[in-house]
Amino acid sequence: MDPLVVPVPSLVLLIGPSGSGKSTWAARHFGPYEVVSSDRCRAMIADSEADQSVTPAAFELVRFIAARRLEAGRLAVVDATNVHAAARRHNLDLAAACGVPAVAIVLDLPVERMLANNAGRAGRVVDDEVVRRQRRDLDEALGVLGSEGYAAVHVLDEATIDAVTIERVQEP
Ligand code: GDP
Ligand code: MG
Repeated sequence: MDPLVVPVPSLVLLIGPSGSGKSTWAARHFGPYEVVSSDRCRAMIADSEADQSVTPAAFELVRFIAARRLEAGRLAVVDATNVHAAARRHNLDLAAACGVPAVAIVLDLPVERMLANNAGRAGRVVDDEVVRRQRRDLDEALGVLGSEGYAAVHVLDEATIDAVTIERVQEP
């Protein structure tokens, strides 16, 4: 399969329910500072990746770090579920404000695999019903992503997720 092209700088938006393997996949393909994770930002504020009470502050931090990285001409890979249109819109607006393209990468796996991943996760386990709802939200998102304004939308599924490689292209 062709490498997945990522312009630098750009905002890469990961899209996938909890347990779809976003953080694991991102760590394989991007550097530790390139990935800006909402769960890590929760922990930076409240000492726990699971502390939902600081969600608004965590997303402020995600966007602050992503914006500063983009202004510095670097990549920002936003690692959050992004299954809701409003969340994606925040990121698209941020990319536009920083004058860089946004690239969407969707982790489109069967809900059973996400549930199994979640159950096997050390520490933080998300309710099955939350994962199922996020999977339904993702189905809805897949129908509209093409018209939201990304430079590219890449949908990875079980057949491609392990094989895909990333090709960085430095923007002038
Ligand atoms: P996220 O919630 O989308 O960020 O998902 P994570 O990357 O945290 O993955 C959730 C759980 O599934 C973790 O325990 C991972 O170790 C596991 N996991 C993620 N990707 C894979 C995979 O490709 N194969 C297997 N066997 N486990 C995976
Ligand atoms: Mg994660």
